[in-house]
Amino acid sequence: MSKSNWTKRSLAAQGMGHIDPITRAVIPPIHLSTTYIRDADNRYTSGYIYGRPDNATVREAEGVIAMLEDAESSALLFSSGMAAATATILALDAGDHVVAPRVMYWALRRWLAEDAARFGIDVDFVEMDDLSKLRAAIRPGRTKLVWAETPSNPLWTITDIAAAAQIAHQAGARLAVDSTIASPFHTRPLSLGADIVMHSVTKVLNGHSDVVGGVLASARDDEFWARIKRVRSGQGAILGPFEAFLLIRGMRTFPLRAATQAAGAAELARRLSAHPHIARVLYPGLPQHPGHDVANRQMENGFGYMFSAQVKGGETAAIATAAKVGLWKRATSLGGVESLIEHRASIEGAGTPCPADLLRLSTGIEDPDDLFRDLDAALNAAHA
Ligand SMILES: *Cc1c(COP(=O)(O)O)cnc(C)c1O
Repeated sequence: MSKSNWTKRSLAAQGMGHIDPITRAVIPPIHLSTTYIRDADNRYTSGYIYGRPDNATVREAEGVIAMLEDAESSALLFSSGMAAATATILALDAGDHVVAPRVMYWALRRWLAEDAARFGIDVDFVEMDDLSKLRAAIRPGRTKLVWAETPSNPLWTITDIAAAAQIAHQAGARLAVDSTIASPFHTRPLSLGADIVMHSVTKVLNGHSDVVGGVLASARDDEFWARIKRVRSGQGAILGPFEAFLLIRGMRTFPLRAATQAAGAAELARRLSAHPHIARVLYPGLPQHPGHDVANRQMENGFGYMFSAQVKGGETAAIATAAKVGLWKRATSLGGVESLIEHRASIEGAGTPCPADLLRLSTGIEDPDDLFRDLDAALNAAHA
């Protein structure tokens, strides 16, 4: 059977089936060299010149992600999700206008609100789940990028990617989607019409909470993509080769982890919805979630590993619940094999759309029964 017939799970498991040509090693080496020998005729026929624009181990990891995302271009790995996201914005021209969601990853919202203006980029924030608001925010001729995040942190708001792409394209703008929470296991934004997809690989793609990194993949190898490459090289924002190696290793089990984590999250969201100390569970897999119908259409293999729970008794009870867990770990970040719980408003600070009674939960691969019993005991202790 030829490699072109392998499924994504098989390709990811074997890091694209790559075998080292010199040693026949099944596991790739880590290319640490920062510089490469120039040919005697002054050319660089290997394609590698210096470690800041490019690296062979990074390219291997990028190949796995481009495959998972059905990207026509190769993917580009960055030193963090924020570096990948801001590179997309910095590839625009001064004077360009961006429409971004009100509910989104807080550090990028803050950068767009407070720092993008210094580069001449105007940003408006809208409820991206309401397409009429997105349409109204477009400034004809000036809007060059619509930035969406779906499901969006920490309310798991769903944006209709195909519809948002149509609105952006009609205005001559591109659609970029932060798909960190969905991951390529649940959604492939490029196949739904998005132009750029972004992930924090720090989360479920690496999945072991030991790499900070980000990635972009593009539907087309065009002039905008070339600009993004120049931004990465100019800023020196490429991922390190050791991190790329760990990421390839993490992605070997990505489809298995994503499936297990989504099944656990769905079960916990369902069981917690009926809990006497929980006011509301936010999870796109629940039929009562406002984005459920769109999520049902555009997501596959389930609804992801993230959900939030609003605790009866408000902020004090929510913080007290997080203080009492044992198996869940009280920490920020998400997507790892270990389950994490966080009182989210505490980290987002002023201006957050996050309710004060909200706990954000990232489901790992532990036994969902253990995870439920731990939360149940913490909720009961916080309400005793
Ligand atoms: C974590 C995260 C980011 C930022 O990624 P870093 O790797 O921490 O820079 C962006 N978007 C979402 C949805 C995230 O969860």
